[in-house]
Amino acid sequence: MSMTTILNPYHMAVQQFELAAEKLKLSEDMREILRQPKRELTVNFPVRLDNGRIKTFTGYRVQHNVNRGPAKGGIRYSPEVTLDEVKALAMWMTWKCAVVGIPFGGAKGGVICNPKSMSPGELERLTRRYATEISIMISPRSDIPAPDVNTNPQVMAWIMDTYSMHEGYSTPAVATGKPLSIGGSEGRNDATATGVLFVTRQAAKRIGMSLKGAHVSIQGYGNAGATAARLFHNEGCKIVAVSDTHGGIYNEAGLDPSSVLRHKQEQGSVVNFRQSQNIGVQDVLEVPCDILVPAATEGVITGANAGRVQARIVAEAANGPTSPEADAILYKKGIVVIPDILANAGGVTVSYFEWVQDIQSFFWGVEEITQKLEVIMNRSFAAVADKADQYSCDMRLAANMLAISRVAEATQIRGIYP
Ligand code: NAD
Repeated sequence: MSMTTILNPYHMAVQQFELAAEKLKLSEDMREILRQPKRELTVNFPVRLDNGRIKTFTGYRVQHNVNRGPAKGGIRYSPEVTLDEVKALAMWMTWKCAVVGIPFGGAKGGVICNPKSMSPGELERLTRRYATEISIMISPRSDIPAPDVNTNPQVMAWIMDTYSMHEGYSTPAVATGKPLSIGGSEGRNDATATGVLFVTRQAAKRIGMSLKGAHVSIQGYGNAGATAARLFHNEGCKIVAVSDTHGGIYNEAGLDPSSVLRHKQEQGSVVNFRQSQNIGVQDVLEVPCDILVPAATEGVITGANAGRVQARIVAEAANGPTSPEADAILYKKGIVVIPDILANAGGVTVSYFEWVQDIQSFFWGVEEITQKLEVIMNRSFAAVADKADQYSCDMRLAANMLAISRVAEATQIRGIYP
């Protein structure tokens, strides 16, 4: 049984929320409002497969809180999607948008499917029907999807096109992470990993560690992980280990990220890359390194293995990779954990830029986007790190306190309807 099935992500998210709410002395009424999602939609819908048969798929869209602005959050395709996972991810999106100060609330979506065993035609039909089923929730003004695990710019293009067909005119602002040719933003593909790099630079500076020559281990080699490997490599770091669902590879002398990516594209996995040693899926979390970047899925660093993490900095590109029990162990060991809602907020921040550009029909250059992103990431990191110092606590608790107090303030000021 994998770790992901042992830990319930929603229980994890609520536990993290309660810890921060307690520290903030948040009223019980406010906790009552914030600990639950505002809306949960489950859809069961038929898709015609290439063999002519019909298969019914189950999907979800959850909006956690929209008091600071329209709901925003990715869509995940995976056999492991559950409603509780989507609820947790939606709650984390609310806090993420608040911690970096962008005017969105939190949402998430998912479809239970195995996209790796589906043809492009099947994936297109699944996506268009799922987009239609959740169209009672999504729109540029209410809820804006984006890519997540196993979805990509092509999937966003199909969602945008399906929604536009129903509206009768092109509506690019209904989804972000789209291809550039239909209103995507420069810098969006690299945004999550770029943000991870920006905050890791700040964390390294605080502990007097140089990124030049620092050893980095990365779990997951998709949009977040493979891009992080390239960017950290360009920064002068040594990428000593990477992994995907099939396993991991290790080379103390450093891996070349673009050769590893080519190998993965050709062979379907990073495993068996030349000049490296194969290691287990979980080993990548425990190899000797300075920086660990979980960039796969939630609940992978737990009470069972946190004691074996050797990094000085854990930069959470993935959402929810660390359990509350593991957090306590890592904090005690003096390991700096840059929490997901801060570390991977570069993705939603550039998604916000994409949405703004689509609404204005006026597009910015990549330099402007990267510079605006860096300002937001550095400012947010400083605010969280200062709060952690002020309260002598880890950065997750500090980030959650900052975010929850902002959402609570918006909720309080708007008042309870009716
Ligand atoms: P992706 O589908 O592009 O890549 C996921 C990678 O993780 C793949 O290499 C896959 O093989 C690997 N993986 C999946 N389960 C694994 C497991 N149990 N063990 C080891 N490897 C595993 O997805 P992505 O967009 O890169 O997302 C990765 C993480 O980053 C997720 O937690 C996601 O929520 C988070 N995130 C992504 C974005 C974004 O913009 N794409 C933004 C913020 C956060």
